[in-house]
Amino acid sequence: MPATRVLVLNSGSSSVKYQLLDMAGPTRLAMGLVERIGEAGARLVHSPTGGERRERQQPIADHEAALRAVEEELAADGMGLDSPELAAVGHRVVHGGQRFSAPTVVDEEVLAEIERLVPVAPLHNPANLTGIRTARSLNPDLPQVAVFDTAFHTTMPEHAARYAIDVETADAHRVRRYGFHGTSHAYVSRRTAELLDRDPADTNIIVLHLGNGASASAVRGGRCVDTSMGLTPLEGLVMGTRSGDVDPAVVFHLSRVAGMSVDDIDTLLNKRSGLLGLCGDNDMREIVRRREEGDERATLAFDVYVHRLKKYIGAYSAVLGRVDAVAFTAGVGENSAPVRQAAVEGLEELGLALDTQLNTVRGDTPRLISPEYARVAVAVVPTDEELEIAAQAYSLVSR
Ligand code: ADP
Repeated sequence: MPATRVLVLNSGSSSVKYQLLDMAGPTRLAMGLVERIGEAGARLVHSPTGGERRERQQPIADHEAALRAVEEELAADGMGLDSPELAAVGHRVVHGGQRFSAPTVVDEEVLAEIERLVPVAPLHNPANLTGIRTARSLNPDLPQVAVFDTAFHTTMPEHAARYAIDVETADAHRVRRYGFHGTSHAYVSRRTAELLDRDPADTNIIVLHLGNGASASAVRGGRCVDTSMGLTPLEGLVMGTRSGDVDPAVVFHLSRVAGMSVDDIDTLLNKRSGLLGLCGDNDMREIVRRREEGDERATLAFDVYVHRLKKYIGAYSAVLGRVDAVAFTAGVGENSAPVRQAAVEGLEELGLALDTQLNTVRGDTPRLISPEYARVAVAVVPTDEELEIAAQAYSLVSR
C-alpha cells in the first residue's frame, strides 16, 4: 500500500493542533486539539472523520505527553505514527528566517537553524521545535517536514524587506521584515487565481488574512512582493489583541513617561491592544453586534480596524500597479460581511466594488462577491493551512 498520509502538527506554546490527511483524496481522516498543556484543566479532543468525537481530561505536563496522547488516540483508530500508510509528519514552523524558502526535511542541521531563530520568534519556535523532536522520537524513521510561515514571503524584494535603519545594526541582529501566515497567503492566492480561471503567473492579488492575527499580502504572478507583518507578527493590520502599526516612539514614550518596562510594553502591544484594547472585545461577531446597538467603543474599534485595512488595500494597489483580485480569508475575512463591505466601500476609484447581495451569502467554498462590471474581483476564499502544509510536505517526500 503506498504511503499517502500526512500528519500535520501545529505546536503552540500551550496547545497542539493536528490533522491526519490522506493526500490520495485529499481527505481528512482525523483532527484534534490538545490544550492547556502544563496547566490545570488540560484536555484532548479527538475527532475521527465519520466517527465519535472523543474527549480526555487528564494532566498533560508537556508537549511530549501531549503528542503521546495524540499518538494513542490515532493508534486506537489504527492510524498511529508507525502505520505504513503514513508518509510524513508536516510541522508548522513559524520562523524560518531568510534561509528557509521552501518546505524542508528536518535533520540535525535544520533543527539547529530553527533553534538559532529563537531570538526572533521566542514564543513560537521553541514549541515548534519540541513538536518536531517529540514526533521524531515516536518514530525515528518517519520524515519530519518543516513548513515555514515565513517561506512564501522570502521572495519579497529587498526594498520591501528592509527597515530604513542602520544596515550594520539590522544585519547583526537579523532585523528585517519576514512576514507570517505565508502558508495561508500562498494557498489563498493560488485558489483565488483558480476561482478566476486565470494563470497564477499572470495574476496580481491582494490577500487579506483576517483571523485573530491578521495580515495582508501583495502577490504578483504567484510571488509575494510585500506583506504587512514584519520582524514579528506585531506589525501591520489591527488584530484581535495586537496593535499592528504604531509609531515606534510609543515604546520610548511609555518607557519614559509611564515607567513601563520593555516586557510590560511587549504585553500591552501584543496582548492588550488591537480590538480588545480599543473596546474590550476581540471577537468581531461581538463587536459587530455591539456596534449595531450603537455602542461607541465597539464602533470606534470597528472603524479603526477597517480604516487600517483600507490603507493596506490602497498601499498594495500602488505596489502592484494592477490588481486583479482582492481575497478575504480566515475567521473574520470568511465570515464577516460587515467588515468586507466597510473595507471595500469608497474604493471604486481603485476598481473595487461589492455586490451587497452576494456579500451576505454564507458558504464554505471560494466565491466572488463583486459585481461583474468591477475591474477588480473581490472574493471570499476559505483558507486551509493544514491542507497546504500536508500538500507541501507530501510533495517533498513523494518525489
Ligand atoms: P486564528 O488566527 O486563531 O486562526 P481564525 O482565523 O479562526 O483565527 O479567526 C478567529 C476570529 O474570527 C475570531 O476571533 C472572530 O473574531 C472571527 N470570527 C469567527 N466567526 C465569525 C463570524 N461569524 N463573524 C465575524 N467574525 C467571526
